[in-house]
Amino acid sequence: MPSLDQFAAEKLADLERASLRRALVPTRRSDGIWAERNGRRLLSFSCNDYLGLTQNPALKAAAIAAIERYGVGAGASRLVTGNHPLYAELEARLAAFKGSEAVCVFGSGYLANSGVAQALLGGEDLILIDELAHSSLWTGARLSRAEVQPFRHNDVAHAAELLAQNRSAHRHTLIVTESVFSMDGDRAPLPELAALARKTDAWLMADDAHDLEYGPRPDVPLRIGTLSKALGSYGGYLAASQPVIELMRNRARTLIYSTGLPPGAVAAAIAALDLIEREPELATRPLAKARAFTRLTNLPEAQSAIVPVVMGEASAALEASRLLEDEGFLVVAIRPPTVPAGTARLRLAFSAAHPDTEIERLATVVREKILKH
Ligand SMILES: *Cc1c(COP(=O)(O)O)cnc(C)c1O
Repeated sequence: MPSLDQFAAEKLADLERASLRRALVPTRRSDGIWAERNGRRLLSFSCNDYLGLTQNPALKAAAIAAIERYGVGAGASRLVTGNHPLYAELEARLAAFKGSEAVCVFGSGYLANSGVAQALLGGEDLILIDELAHSSLWTGARLSRAEVQPFRHNDVAHAAELLAQNRSAHRHTLIVTESVFSMDGDRAPLPELAALARKTDAWLMADDAHDLEYGPRPDVPLRIGTLSKALGSYGGYLAASQPVIELMRNRARTLIYSTGLPPGAVAAAIAALDLIEREPELATRPLAKARAFTRLTNLPEAQSAIVPVVMGEASAALEASRLLEDEGFLVVAIRPPTVPAGTARLRLAFSAAHPDTEIERLATVVREKILKH
């Protein structure tokens, strides 16, 4: 076997032995909550489609109309000829939605997170990052060439200690966290981190990918968002002040050297904003559903639409996932390196569209068959 293939095969065998090998499973989603895989129709608690908008008729119609008008692809980077007319509308709408001065839309949340720190920082600078921050935020931190120091999860005192030790030796400092943590569902202490940032002249960046509370947050000058989760489309963005956004357009490599989003994706995101603005109550529903579930299972009260059920070993998480599949539920096991070793888990994501009776049935199964062991 060529050494390259031998290397890959051995790596895969290691992963298999540790129950960490992953596979792509063809999955057909035809409405917001049901997924067909392996010939079975399952009620999914593993989609980030919090408001059920990926299949919404108004979003589909907007995407189709945009394709008819502007084509399927943007054809070039936004800085060249890919900045089709829908972009300006989306950025203005997002800025109003988040209560920020301006917005820059990137190709995805991952690309936004990979590009922002690099556009702002260099070798003389410092990044403090929550240890549980999303992979894309770590990618961005590393690409920036700044010194990177993790602080313990949501531990403001630890961040303050690291700043006291290191701040003065660096030009600029960026503090990076998630407003809602993607695998734990808990919230960052943003007011406290903002106060710390103010005191030490650091810049605070929060990733709002899973945050369904959209209002202004003047104490967080850099806010990342995605069009790919609650908004049901595809793409990512930074909400910030006008000069910061203008700098992104000039310096962020993941914006400049990547093709603009397809017009259909941008149009669908605009239609999603229309819908949420007309019906703001919609965005409050996933949290209410998650709280019903945590009440019924005696788990700590949900702080967001995401509820973790930590199993420990990867094999235990896989087994719990299979058990739920037998009951008609799709809850994908989350394993290292997505989460720290020894904390493999079920991650439940609640949608506005989940029927209450099904949440009750899921809670019974989790309580009686999973938490009891
Ligand atoms: C999903 C996710 C991203 C990436 O967003 P995409 O638009 O899917 O690329 C970034 N940050 C967090 C916290 C996420 O969960």
